[in-house]
Amino acid sequence: MYEKADLHIHTIYSDGVLAPAELVAKAKDAGLSIISITDHDSIGGIEEAIAAGKEKDVEVISGIELSASLNGTEIHILGYFVDHTDKNLTDSLSGFQVERMNRAKRIVGKLNKMNVPIDIDSVMEHVTGDSVGRPHIANALVTDGHAASYEQAFMKYIGDGRPAYERKWNFSPEETIRLINKAGGLSFLAHPGRSMNEDLLFRLIKAGLDGIEVIHPSHSPELVYYYRGIVNEYCLLESGGSDYHGGEKSDDQTLGRFGISASTVDIMRRRLTSN
Ligand code: AMP
Ligand code: ZN
Ligand code: FE
Ligand code: FE
Repeated sequence: MYEKADLHIHTIYSDGVLAPAELVAKAKDAGLSIISITDHDSIGGIEEAIAAGKEKDVEVISGIELSASLNGTEIHILGYFVDHTDKNLTDSLSGFQVERMNRAKRIVGKLNKMNVPIDIDSVMEHVTGDSVGRPHIANALVTDGHAASYEQAFMKYIGDGRPAYERKWNFSPEETIRLINKAGGLSFLAHPGRSMNEDLLFRLIKAGLDGIEVIHPSHSPELVYYYRGIVNEYCLLESGGSDYHGGEKSDDQTLGRFGISASTVDIMRRRLTSN
């Protein structure tokens, strides 16, 4: 039987709306046999997901989606099969979380200067995990009546380049790839169609990137074809997933519809053991 894998899913440990066990159940209903939980800068949901997966017969691969910065551009790098107890990894994640908190306070400060009376406590009411981000600030802006919708909150205030936007400090892509490899994992460039130019992509390949997320809801068939070509040409691995968050992001239809086959996951595993 053809077995499906979705290797890009968010939970309440970052900006998703479902708890790991709820996600595993939903994944099972969607016909998935393998999933990876890839929260932003957090490994908080992995153990819960693995335990729920054992009960439901869904294989859960430990994962993470790390933000990295390059010349002011933020890119996302997925790590799969990481040892989520690796001290170097958990220390780095704690650092990112402190930075995210400081940056959320800076954004709130900017909003206050724009006469938007929001405070950090009302933002924190929306944070379910250990990693505060702009989605939580957007939710607080909507709840407190300062924006008509989640999208408007980004457009008016906190989207890239908008008046209350603040950058956050991150590792470079090279450091991020090294962090994942040192924790025993494989690194994949996430949704390259969103932010990527070729120069940057080849810089990452040179830095030891293991693969590319070829399948993603934001990729047209032409982009899938293009990235698959690069994967083949440079002997990289292919990954894919739904980037499911649930709730606000109205991506409820994507779970089970974007991903790769279990045999593609086997190819990753083989690369892991040959490293
Ligand atoms: P952060 O990591 O805190 O910078 O938050 C980034 C997240 O905010 C992204 O993963 C998106 O989910 C969300 N986001 C960023 N820009 C927008 C936008 N213009 N509209 C809606 N969501 C956005
Ligand atoms: Zn997210
Ligand atoms: Fe992402
Ligand atoms: Fe994501």
